[in-house]
Amino acid sequence: MTGSPRPLPASAPAAGAPTPAAPRRLPVGSLLYALAAAGTVALAATTPFSGYAFNILMQAATYAIAVIGLTVVLGLCGQINLAQAGFFGIGAYAVGLGTVDWGLSFWLCLPVGLVLALVLGAGLGASTLRLGGHYLAMVTISFQQILTLVLINWIPVTHGPDGVPRIQRPTLFADSQSYLALCVFVLAVVGYLVWHLPRTRLGRAMRAVRDNELAAGVTGIDIYRTKVAAFALGALLAGLGGALFAGSFTYISPDQFSFAESIVFLTMALLGGVGSPVGAVIGTGLLILIPEWLRFLKEIPGLYLAIYGLAVILIVVFMPEGIWGFLGDQVRRLRPRRPAPARAQDLVLTQEAASPAPVLEVEALSKHFGGLKAVDEVSFTVARGGIHALIGPNGSGKTTTLNVLSGLYTPTGGRVRLDGRDITRLAPHQRAASGLGRTFQNIRLFRSMSALENVVIGAERPGNPLVGHQRAALEARARAALAFVGLEARADEPVSAFSYGHQRLIEIARALAGNPVLLLLDEPAAGLNSSEKVALTGLLRRMAAKGLTILIIDHDMTLVSDVASHITVLNFGRRIADGVTATVLREPAVIEAYLGQEAAEGPAVGLKSDLAPA
Ligand code: ADP
Ligand code: MG
Repeated sequence: MTGSPRPLPASAPAAGAPTPAAPRRLPVGSLLYALAAAGTVALAATTPFSGYAFNILMQAATYAIAVIGLTVVLGLCGQINLAQAGFFGIGAYAVGLGTVDWGLSFWLCLPVGLVLALVLGAGLGASTLRLGGHYLAMVTISFQQILTLVLINWIPVTHGPDGVPRIQRPTLFADSQSYLALCVFVLAVVGYLVWHLPRTRLGRAMRAVRDNELAAGVTGIDIYRTKVAAFALGALLAGLGGALFAGSFTYISPDQFSFAESIVFLTMALLGGVGSPVGAVIGTGLLILIPEWLRFLKEIPGLYLAIYGLAVILIVVFMPEGIWGFLGDQVRRLRPRRPAPARAQDLVLTQEAASPAPVLEVEALSKHFGGLKAVDEVSFTVARGGIHALIGPNGSGKTTTLNVLSGLYTPTGGRVRLDGRDITRLAPHQRAASGLGRTFQNIRLFRSMSALENVVIGAERPGNPLVGHQRAALEARARAALAFVGLEARADEPVSAFSYGHQRLIEIARALAGNPVLLLLDEPAAGLNSSEKVALTGLLRRMAAKGLTILIIDHDMTLVSDVASHITVLNFGRRIADGVTATVLREPAVIEAYLGQEAAEGPAVGLKSDLAPA
């Protein structure tokens, strides 16, 4: 990751260190999972199924691995992949061709298939993930079709439509009983790892990207890399499932890996619940087993398909989160709430208060949208420590300035230096890594997460010198940040349970947890009631008292004149005033821009009383 961490002052307590009071909790969930998995593998290894049942179960187990791959790309990271059957085929053909044509061992072909799927997945992802939505879907469909065409037409290598017969299983797992046990074992391991993925740094990044790309970027997450990682991981799991599938059936052909199969994989994931590997297993099991249960209906043509289709539609309509999404919700409702941990630590912010250099230098910054000069050659500097306000009437270019500063827009011209370093060309996550934190005018939280999880992502900002990647340290810091804004008691609640004002505070806590060099706040008082505004004023003062430098945009002149020592005023994208608060607020140009000609003609003292709280 980019960004050079600033040294921790010797006086700062170890804010990241886990609280000694918190004992290590027993991993009950993992133990239960291990027991259940061991039981299932044992069942698979000992139950004398019929040959037909073996086939069905091996298909279900290997498909489920690929469907779990889809839950990573689509469920966790929110990216569509309609080529999952293609990647499944890559794994299958690596084992098929490797064992049959090249006489290689299964155990050699398997990793080759995995690497091929991973590399192609990463390549496809890397070349297309800058596109979004429909384009990504179309590119993955094209990739899927190309793969199918290659499998069918490159006859000397792939055997073409005839497929590959007599695929070798590994010697130790030559009979169906032990091979099924192997597949179920691999499925259990994959399920366990993917179940834990959301609680890792990468998994959190994926969820953040899915929930809110813009917010993910400005909290320091490399959006593109995260998406490519998700895509590659999804492809890898498809390859793994495919490789085991080839061994299950000892015969493969191109039609088993067609676009139609990709849709089947997708349906399985959506049906079971795309958010979890458990959902993937349920969805796969159902879509493979329902047709078997309905076999007796096959006598009456059409009826079988009608009932099958209807069942799928009903599930999707009444359980939009899939079966496991629905069941999981019920379980979560019953689960007792975790008691809030012992008193959160004090929030530490490391600021180089002694340094005389300005934190932010903006030089002739412009942003044009076609003919509209939203920001027009604006220059100002933000001194270290204290609160600097950027004000101006609606549409004067304040938010646009902030968006250019945080890298969401590329400037039409000009330069931006943070802490002396030119950041004009950096991506949002790189600016975050250099210490730029921000909040949004329209709150941008990660909606599927708890308050704590949102703030943990902030704490995890690359370049934050205060915490490493240990979960306990990150959580302790996140709790400290939530305590600082007064919300630690509700840390584990989902963000949707909070009022608008509190959601703003969570957003501020998320930025604070990252220990920013400069915090950009876009209209933090918008939509707050008067008591919330008073609380916000107090919070701003407490942040400034910790030495943090803040650049705040706000409409509320009372708030601005209360907290800001320095003001820059924009109007129609141009800077019309800049200086010490009291002086700027008396400048006729400012009064005119804000209150119209009438007020400009009145005495400046009147302005202050107009701005006083009602
Ligand atoms: P403020 O935050 O000061 O109220 P903004 O920076 O949001 O103002 O907007 C300044 C001007 O730029 C407005 O005229 C707005 O319509 C325009 N603008 C802002 N963002 C865009 C965009 N993405 N595309 C086109 N015009 C934009
Ligand atoms: Mg704005």
